[in-house]
Amino acid sequence: MAPDARDTFGPKRKNPLATPPVRTHKSAQQKRLMADLANRYAQNVLGKFYVDNQCIDCDLCRETAPNNYTRWDDGGYSYVYKQPSSPEEEAACKEAMEGCPVEAIGNNG
Ligand code: SF4
Repeated sequence: MAPDARDTFGPKRKNPLATPPVRTHKSAQQKRLMADLANRYAQNVLGKFYVDNQCIDCDLCRETAPNNYTRWDDGGYSYVYKQPSSPEEEAACKEAMEGCPVEAIGNNG
């Protein structure tokens, strides 16, 4: 009789060939990380891009899209001081949003 995977890898070792579980729903932590319009900072100018209160002041968005994001020094966080007005700025804002490590940047446009 041929050994099955449990025999090959032992009862406590994981089968490295096993298919990883498929996740169909985001975990609670992932859900919390998404930017929330209800928590946007008041300093954001009106428009589709905004920063919410999860910002950890890492500077990535200000480096990526300096024409659109700046720092609120009193609070120690970033906000959108100008909405994008060109395809280049739009792309930079989107790149900043996608790169934000805590998903504090939202786009409700
Ligand atoms: S990239 Fe995200 S966490 Fe970093 S400063 Fe910008 S909004 Fe804040």
